[in-house]
Amino acid sequence: MAQKVIAGNWKMNLNLEQSLELIEHLNTKEFDEDVRIIVFPPALFVQPISSLIEGDFEIGVQNFSQNNNGAYTGEISITQSESVGVTVGLIGHSERRAYNSESNELLKAKVNHAVVNNFDFIFCCGEPLSIREAGKELTFVKKQLQESLFHLTANQINGGIIAYEPVWAIGTGVTASSVQAEDMHKNIREWLTEVYSTDVANSISILYGGSCDVSNAKELLGCPNVDGGLIGGASLKAEGFSTIIQSY
Ligand code: PEP
Repeated sequence: MAQKVIAGNWKMNLNLEQSLELIEHLNTKEFDEDVRIIVFPPALFVQPISSLIEGDFEIGVQNFSQNNNGAYTGEISITQSESVGVTVGLIGHSERRAYNSESNELLKAKVNHAVVNNFDFIFCCGEPLSIREAGKELTFVKKQLQESLFHLTANQINGGIIAYEPVWAIGTGVTASSVQAEDMHKNIREWLTEVYSTDVANSISILYGGSCDVSNAKELLGCPNVDGGLIGGASLKAEGFSTIIQSY
């Protein structure tokens, strides 16, 4: 069975003091040890946060370079990330696709770089509103996965994490209904079964992201093919984020 994962994507929010306060507050909470918990702070704050974290949290980076160390101004490498305790990176968040022109081809290079370096990642996919309104969301998301992820071998993808994040639900307060989320997740699981096998498909955690908060987490996370959540805005408050984790 796929591992349950709750991840908090802080994006470009919080200053150092606020970040440390949030971690201190999370340190006071108790969580089910079967849930993999990951926080994605701004990269600048990874090190002070990793010295403060007491619980079983992992720290991730919101982005990393597809290149090794070298002359890539403004980029962060996997090796550098690992040297300050980072264990996982996001790939293909819709904001990076939109504002940093990250193409399926570039994301494939990041996926390959992560695999070669044995670095865990959460691969994000999801359709914009116009595609959903045209009823083409399944074709769109399948293409994202085919072009950036499904070239991996069964061994390489086994136990990985995919986050389905409909773009129209991110940061908008509009969430996918549990029926919409389950439908997409079920399809992703079926594609994984077709390309790989039932065993591989069942080993992959498929997370939902998009305005998931304390009011809807239980219902969304309760869907049979939803194995966790990638939480944006609601991960910035310790109380709310803890309640979401404790939905399991
Ligand atoms: C996200 O950015 O990954 C996200 C899901 O954001 P929000 O929860 O704020 O919609």
